[in-house]
Amino acid sequence: MDKISVIRGATTVKSDTAVDISESVKELVSEIVAKNGLNEKGRQPIFCIISSTSDITALYPARAVRESDILNCPLFSCLEPPIKDSLPMCIRVMIQVSGINEIKHVYLRGAKVLRPDLCRPFSVAVDGPSGAGKSTIAKLLAKRLNMTYLDTGAMYRAIGLKMHNCGISLDDETGILKVLDNTDVSVEFENDVQKVYLDGVDVGKEIRKHYVSKLASDFSAIAVVRKKLVDMQRKIASRRDCILDGRDIGTKVLPDSPAKFFLTASVDVRAKRRFDELTAKGEKCDFETVKKDMQSRDYNDSHRKVDPLKKAADAIEIDSSDMDIEQVIERMTEEIDKKRRCFQ
Ligand code: C5P
Repeated sequence: MDKISVIRGATTVKSDTAVDISESVKELVSEIVAKNGLNEKGRQPIFCIISSTSDITALYPARAVRESDILNCPLFSCLEPPIKDSLPMCIRVMIQVSGINEIKHVYLRGAKVLRPDLCRPFSVAVDGPSGAGKSTIAKLLAKRLNMTYLDTGAMYRAIGLKMHNCGISLDDETGILKVLDNTDVSVEFENDVQKVYLDGVDVGKEIRKHYVSKLASDFSAIAVVRKKLVDMQRKIASRRDCILDGRDIGTKVLPDSPAKFFLTASVDVRAKRRFDELTAKGEKCDFETVKKDMQSRDYNDSHRKVDPLKKAADAIEIDSSDMDIEQVIERMTEEIDKKRRCFQ
């Protein structure tokens, strides 16, 4: 006889509207179905009980699941008693299944606090040279997959800017240490959009300027600078599902990340992308200078002693020279979905 097991899961709802309830419960059940391969032959859901806290009154969560056809088995909705201090706006599911040896429970959104032991955050590492489209793609992917996007380059840019503002030169080891000790780079997420603060000031616009690119590359070669930022990046990724882009994510920051990508494109395509990006922001620049600066930055990044830019052995390389953004995202999403299914 096939083994019978019970998969558990929970999520929270942004508001008590039928749309939010429906979206959240469908997301939860879809994730359980995907992670446990419930649509595959021989892996059968038998029945599903869905309970919700008593503050959820706009829609039966089971109805949303039934009407979506995500789960093909009997469904039952019930209301939990109002219990003081319990997690509000919460939907829980229990799905009895047969034929699965190793089940995977799923806790999403605010409900992760219920079972931190089952909620190791998932990460995606995106590395590659400048102009390969990493940040554009990682940002869109993060939105699609409901993850946080961490642009690690922005942190190196903030440090480069600070050293520049303090008039510190690259060979001034003591000066660099002193400034670093008195520098506060912080990253905050407002509606999942990253804001970078340098000593409390939002430097989001300034750090994107062309002159800061070289400063970031120069100071990023210094071991103490890297240590400070790598520690911060690991801490952020340990608390939430994140997509990080940079140069050393798959090799140094998160070597155990389950999904690693190395994005490249020909130097002309990359330079053209960077040139278009800068001119769109109103910066005056010429194509040849942008290309030359980019090549020299790539050389620095891949030849520095500490954590140089290189493809992790287990990263999937994607050359986007002849691909549009949607094609790259499709390819990456396919891989991430596979990895997520095996991840717990
Ligand atoms: O990606 P972005 O162009 O904003 O990065 C600026 C610089 O920061 C890179 O040229 C590189 O020198 C450095 N960097 C790094 N490691 C990372 C991210 C960026 O060394 N993880």
